[in-house]
Amino acid sequence: MNFQTGSAFASECDRSDHLASFRDRFFIPVTSDGKEVIYFTGNSLGLQPRRTGEYVQTELADWARYAVDGHLNARNPWLSYHELLTEPMARIIGANASETVMMNSLTVNLHLMLVSFYRPDGKRRKIVIEKGAFPSDRYAIESQIKCRGLDPNECLIEVNPRSGENNIRHEDIESVIGTHNDEIALVMFGGVNYYTGQAFDIARITKAAHAVGAFAGFDLAHSAGNIDLYLSDSDADFAVWCSYKYLNGGPGGIGGVFVHSRHSESFDICRFAGWWGHDKKTRFLMKPEFKPLKGAEGWQISNPPILQMAALRASLEIFDDAGMHSLRQKSLRLTGYLEFLINGIADERIEIITPSNPQERGCQLSIRVKNADRSLFHEITRRGVFTDWREPDVIRVAPVPLYNSYNDVYQFAEILRESLAKM
Ligand SMILES: *Cc1c(COP(=O)(O)O)cnc(C)c1O
Repeated sequence: MNFQTGSAFASECDRSDHLASFRDRFFIPVTSDGKEVIYFTGNSLGLQPRRTGEYVQTELADWARYAVDGHLNARNPWLSYHELLTEPMARIIGANASETVMMNSLTVNLHLMLVSFYRPDGKRRKIVIEKGAFPSDRYAIESQIKCRGLDPNECLIEVNPRSGENNIRHEDIESVIGTHNDEIALVMFGGVNYYTGQAFDIARITKAAHAVGAFAGFDLAHSAGNIDLYLSDSDADFAVWCSYKYLNGGPGGIGGVFVHSRHSESFDICRFAGWWGHDKKTRFLMKPEFKPLKGAEGWQISNPPILQMAALRASLEIFDDAGMHSLRQKSLRLTGYLEFLINGIADERIEIITPSNPQERGCQLSIRVKNADRSLFHEITRRGVFTDWREPDVIRVAPVPLYNSYNDVYQFAEILRESLAKM
């Protein structure tokens, strides 16, 4: 990609960006002097679509008007409301609708998937994960190992980056899987690591896991709405994600689950059941026998939060209008531009630890700050830039193609340069 220094280049990119107008469909926070902030924390909490309020208000109004009858008679009947999310969500993750369901929240869904896909049996009882996985994932996995009466010290295997390297090599993942071989029950990776921004090859890891007879699961918290996903084709057994990061579903937003179609009628495996996973046609006969739905919906437990789903609908509509593939194309260029400008600063106090290969990352770049000096982070924050500090020494910066501009990136790089010069 060809990039140039100077603000004229950023303006030219914004003028020729056919996705530029999508920014107007979001509320952009403003500083105390009324200037729009540079919002680079869509990887933590996505911005609010302007139409979210309208979607939520519709359900509040129908609740006021119809009360319990809203389950059947609301404009969008609540009984089947989650189905409105299924197809748009399936398009974003590259799955069939029957493999996709929105329910609960991320870590809860991870537990439910571990109940079904972590099935220790004899010596096959290990779980392989990435070193530096999101803490919640690690807690969930460790607790599941303990709940089966097993020892995490023996059963939890982490794949490390090589010494002196920041990212994990796929050949090392394959070699760890090969070494532990038929002792592995499950391989569980992030789609994009929240800290380094490294994107893992889901199909490749799945292939290695399946070759030794293990299941493969993925946490897509930092992938869904960020990179192109082909979950069905990748053959992964399951995936979980949240909707409040790149998917702009709002704080505490509803989570998502993918279960590959080959498991759609695996009714004999261990599942935690609840009435929402029961056959829709007979659910309200309230019979004691549990008759699970086919596909991912069969893992539902509770009736889901309508207001959160309404909020997410407003955002998924925007994704459909923009198209995930087009967003990714812009994202590759936007983040490439950010990398180009940061590298141009050439200051030894900062280092990008995210892979430089665009295919091995999403929109986020993680900047390691020498000596863990937080004053740089405080200074750019003071200048109206939203990034975040992750212990021990990283600033995460995520330009989101839906609402960030090339000018945002240019301004940020200038602020970064000036802040470093001041330090
Ligand atoms: C954000 C994130 C979570 C958060 O979990 P919740 O259950 O939604 O609170 C978990 N795992 C990963 C990888 C994340 O990035």
